[in-house]
Amino acid sequence: MRFACHAQPTTIDPVSLLAVGTVAFDTVHTPFRTAERILGGSATYITLAARLFVDAPRLVAVVGHDFPESCISLLRDRKIDLAGLEVNPTEKTFFWEGRYHYNMNDRDTLDTQLNVLATFDPKLPASYRSTRVVCLGNLQPQVQQQVLDQVESPDLVVCDTMNFWIDSALDELKKTLARIDVLIINDEEARQLADHTNLVVASRIIRAMGPKTLIIKKGEHGAMLFKDDHVFWAPALPLEEIQDPTGAGDTFMGGFAGYLACEGTYTFDSFKRAVLCGTALASFVVGQFGPEALYDLTPEDVQGRLDRLTTLAHVPAVDAIGARMV
Ligand code: AMP
Repeated sequence: MRFACHAQPTTIDPVSLLAVGTVAFDTVHTPFRTAERILGGSATYITLAARLFVDAPRLVAVVGHDFPESCISLLRDRKIDLAGLEVNPTEKTFFWEGRYHYNMNDRDTLDTQLNVLATFDPKLPASYRSTRVVCLGNLQPQVQQQVLDQVESPDLVVCDTMNFWIDSALDELKKTLARIDVLIINDEEARQLADHTNLVVASRIIRAMGPKTLIIKKGEHGAMLFKDDHVFWAPALPLEEIQDPTGAGDTFMGGFAGYLACEGTYTFDSFKRAVLCGTALASFVVGQFGPEALYDLTPEDVQGRLDRLTTLAHVPAVDAIGARMV
């Protein structure tokens, strides 16, 4: 699979992507190291990944008075469109703290301080309203809906959520789900949302809530894509060095949605290619703490990982098996 964008500008706002989510401070504990108050947040990871496919991805988020100019410059220097980043002068930035288990996959949330998020009332700049691909990153489902209310008939709406919102805002989350095209969640969240242990059955139950396409992330075991009667599975790249899995899901979403915005078609085959792009992007972010690994990524880096991924998943046809069997 070649890493290239051949989308033809056919609409007034071609190849455009918007991400609403958190821009956060994270404190991350792994069994080997702790990193305190580093840059994080779902919108941060999504836009940093999507920028490899889309010029100036648009960010919708709020930060507080404690958010440093250096972090704003860092995003601006990477051509993230910050017209939709609000600074709340009276509140602190969203804060999340988590601890990973020894398997570096499961984690416990130790602290979530909504701060600025508690009163966030997003107002989209006029230039954002005709965005073609909308990423509803992980945050309150009500805020996700407020953003959808302000975009004019996007081509594709991709959404993420997590157990925090399934537990605390299920009714609102169901209203969001009724308005989206693709939901991306992990296996534990899928079981919780569907209230069913079997992921194939859960995928049917969740798709009946609204999204025609569901992606279930399974950490180091890859990701499953469900659409109509089709199922696709992409492995994760086997990596020796995992420093910090935080943001892997958001990065996956940015790569997935960014690729689709750039290809401009939404068939099952294009979704499969997008899953590989999401997987490739996520494989970088886990190698360093926070979003650092995304800062200076190049298309060549991404192509290298895509090549490894396609080799990993390629199986020469096993035909005439009957002739070999006893
Ligand atoms: P991921 O590892 O892909 O699930 O994303 C982790 C990122 O999501 C971290 O940078 C956190 O700041 C952010 N985050 C954690 N909890 C929440 C929450 N309840 N709502 C929105 N963002 C969150």
